Amino acid sequence: MQDIERKDKTYVWHPFTQMQDWVENKQLVIAAGDGIKLIDIDGKAYYDGVSSLWLNVHGHRKAAIDQAIIDQLGKIAHTTMLGLANIPAAELAEQLVKIAPPGLTRVFYSDSGSTAVEIAVKMAYQYWQLKGQTQKKKFITLTNAYHGDTVGSVSVGGIDLFHRIFAPLLFETVHAPSPSCFHCTLGDSPAACGFACVVAVEKLLADHHGEIAAMVVEPLVQGAAGMLVQPPGYLRRVRELTQRYGVLLIVDEVATGFGRTGRMFACEHEGVSPDLMTMAKGITGGYLPLAATLTTDEIYNAFLGPVEAQKTFFHGHSYTGNPLACAAALANLRIFRDEQVIENLGPKIEAARRKLAAFWQLAAVADIRQCGLMIGIELMQDKATKQPYPPAWRMGHRVCMKTREYGLIIRPLGDVVVFMPPLASTVEEIEEMLDIIYRAIAEVTNC
Ligand SMILES: *Cc1c(COP(=O)(O)O)cnc(C)c1O
Repeated sequence: MQDIERKDKTYVWHPFTQMQDWVENKQLVIAAGDGIKLIDIDGKAYYDGVSSLWLNVHGHRKAAIDQAIIDQLGKIAHTTMLGLANIPAAELAEQLVKIAPPGLTRVFYSDSGSTAVEIAVKMAYQYWQLKGQTQKKKFITLTNAYHGDTVGSVSVGGIDLFHRIFAPLLFETVHAPSPSCFHCTLGDSPAACGFACVVAVEKLLADHHGEIAAMVVEPLVQGAAGMLVQPPGYLRRVRELTQRYGVLLIVDEVATGFGRTGRMFACEHEGVSPDLMTMAKGITGGYLPLAATLTTDEIYNAFLGPVEAQKTFFHGHSYTGNPLACAAALANLRIFRDEQVIENLGPKIEAARRKLAAFWQLAAVADIRQCGLMIGIELMQDKATKQPYPPAWRMGHRVCMKTREYGLIIRPLGDVVVFMPPLASTVEEIEEMLDIIYRAIAEVTNC
């Protein structure tokens, strides 16, 4: 074991990691990056097949982002937004409003997806308090939702494995069924499932709207739940219904934003403008921690008044609007424009779709879900009866360890093999990465 791996195992506690297992096994230490590859301390290169946990957009060491950060460093690294403004944060806010769905006109910064959601939840709650509708305190959430790990964002989440133990710490929410065709028990086709899930939302709104502040959804794909793709039209219907019943809609674009689904934001596929929208992960191209919660004039204006009226939104983090992160985000958006990143995604998404079609031949592949370059391949012991593998076999994990032998780093969600390559990956690179995944699944599952 090299000295640096020993230090890691002696001193570091890793996120979402059983440390007993971590310490017992050989671990990779990344020393550098180059385009869409990661390079370990032995000099071995691997494809970054999950974009460093869904963040990276244009590859690592992208010259234009590196330079933007260096230029900003020559001015200032950080200054507070409490009582002061800064140049990159103001420039970026204008740009974000320009690319966001129409009607989102104000930007509140923070530093992670979890805090962006936390802020959206608190804004929605305070909005109704300020409007005098003080009974509107609850949130409608989706089963299997993931919105982050702070206590407020866990409260609006719905992944039992992550959230069960914290239940006594959380506020109560009203649950709507997860509109995910493969796992949905409400209908056996996307249309039937979508219809049943919309009917369920309508019933909740009809029965409870007087006490509901907002509904929170991941648009198009419930990512952490295992890349569960929603039926087309679901998000648009939810927007119509929330509007009809006077309930705010919070759309969490933390995973789907910045081109992941083939458009800049997933909302665009459905022509939806939410009341609050969160962004994080891809906002800096995967370089630095930054997040934003966008909202409308209607909500922003409700918080206005003389200081002594105490309508202020009392929330803020030390690193809010960090100039280095905002400079990286501005460079990220420039690259989207200069390199026509969204316009060039079509052939990449199609190449992945073509390659994935062959995966159905593998006996262990029970479902393949794709939305743009968000891809989940679900493994099961018996796909005819939807019989999962025993969790102790850790099939998803074993497949992902196998792909490392062939030069690809990916990370599963249970037995869903996740593939989320950087948007900068070429068609050939996407095909090669999928060949590696195919081979790994075939070998590990013996089919
Ligand atoms: C990752 C994620 C979050 C949490 O973001 P962090 O930056 O990890 O706190 C929130 N919502 C969604 C949809 C996510 O995928």
